[in-house]
Amino acid sequence: MPVRSTKRGADRTPLDVDVDVLVCGASFAGLAVARELAGTGASVMVIDRYDIGERQTSACAAPTEWLRNLSLDGAVRQTFGDLVVNTPQERVRYHLPWTFSTFDYRELCALMAEQGDFTFDTAKVEGITRGPVHTVHTDRGDLRAPLVVDALGWRRVLGRDMGIQPPDARLSRGLEVHPEGRGDDLELWIDPKVIRAGYGWRFPAGGEVRVGVGSFEPRDHVKEPTVALARELDVPTVGYQGNWIPHQLRPAVSEGVFFAGDSAGHCLPLTAEGIRTAWYFGLAAGRELRQVVEGRRTREQALASYGAFSHAHARSYAWLLRFQRMVGPMNDRGSLVSATMRAVNRQWWIDRFFGRYLAVAPPEHALAAGPPRAAQAPA
Ligand SMILES: Cc1cc2nc3c(=O)[nH]c(=O)nc-3n(C[C@H](O)[C@H](O)[C@H](O)COP(=O)(O)OP(=O)(O)OC[C@H]3O[C@@H](n4cnc5c(N)ncnc54)[C@H](O)[C@@H]3O)c2cc1C
Repeated sequence: MPVRSTKRGADRTPLDVDVDVLVCGASFAGLAVARELAGTGASVMVIDRYDIGERQTSACAAPTEWLRNLSLDGAVRQTFGDLVVNTPQERVRYHLPWTFSTFDYRELCALMAEQGDFTFDTAKVEGITRGPVHTVHTDRGDLRAPLVVDALGWRRVLGRDMGIQPPDARLSRGLEVHPEGRGDDLELWIDPKVIRAGYGWRFPAGGEVRVGVGSFEPRDHVKEPTVALARELDVPTVGYQGNWIPHQLRPAVSEGVFFAGDSAGHCLPLTAEGIRTAWYFGLAAGRELRQVVEGRRTREQALASYGAFSHAHARSYAWLLRFQRMVGPMNDRGSLVSATMRAVNRQWWIDRFFGRYLAVAPPEHALAAGPPRAAQAPA
């Protein structure tokens, strides 16, 4: 069981720690890495600015099979077999070949943490001095480990290539509100009245609905569109949460450090689905690290193997980015969106597209040991 401690004020005593593996970031990617190291006997430490599960970072919808395969069903709030897309002219219902579920972030993180065997502390990561044993600098002192993972999200704090910041970086932006409410459908809005290059969503989760807007164009603000969509849906604008969302793959290894999840741009373009990919690449990184701590690989071999595994998905990401770039121009011709959404509503096409989309980061990966086959591009 992990030891947890949210340290505030005078309790933020200095840290000075040596461990085998240091995982920076305790959200989807970081907890997936730590989970794979359980039972190795390695000393593993996870750190985050906030306590585990304290800050929700998304609308928390993921393929149900992923949740089931990771034994996280307990956090599920609602399951959906259909996706409803609202376009300027009509509302189209797609019957998916697999289901999506919304879940409770705090409960899910607690379940994931229970699957690991690590110490946890709160600290803000500020930088790294690289070496055979890296030194990670935090606001509470230095932590040393030969194996370091950056699962810190889009800022990629431990990368040297931090020069590009929003709005110039390849990032989307998303904002949502979390009022109480109920609903039966997982809904999207692809409509220029909501946002030009992006989409709106309404994800029910038990007694709560998550209503938000994402823009692939980082210069387009999403506050007003989010408020407007919430008003249209007649829900209060309470419980705001938002973030930048990467839509370009970045190197998953850099100068001796492993990157997983948003820090490596693993969030999928077009859909901004980044939870299952954070799990997928986090598990892959964790399995490589496992081999190192068990003496079956060197750090350099693990870095090379994980870097190649991540890079093998570049084609799928490029395809999704191409689709993403079509959304704004299609929305400029509103009737084209409606016509396209209607035209693709053929079950064989839906099954094929969503089947290949799931295969980019397939749920079986949660069960398998070792890196799976390289992903396919969506149709
Ligand atoms: C509004 C919105 C809705 C979304 N909805 C969905 C959705 O429904 N489904 C889906 O699949 N994806 C969704 N996404 C995308 C998804 O949230 C991300 O892709 C996913 O959270 C990435 O996981 P991660 O573990 O890599 O990073 P994060 O979840 O961002 O976690 C990074 C962790 O690092 C910590 N951290 C950051 N900097 C520091 C620091 N300097 N020191 C210490 N700790 C630090 C943070 O506190 C955090 O715990 C959404 C995104 C947004 C913005």
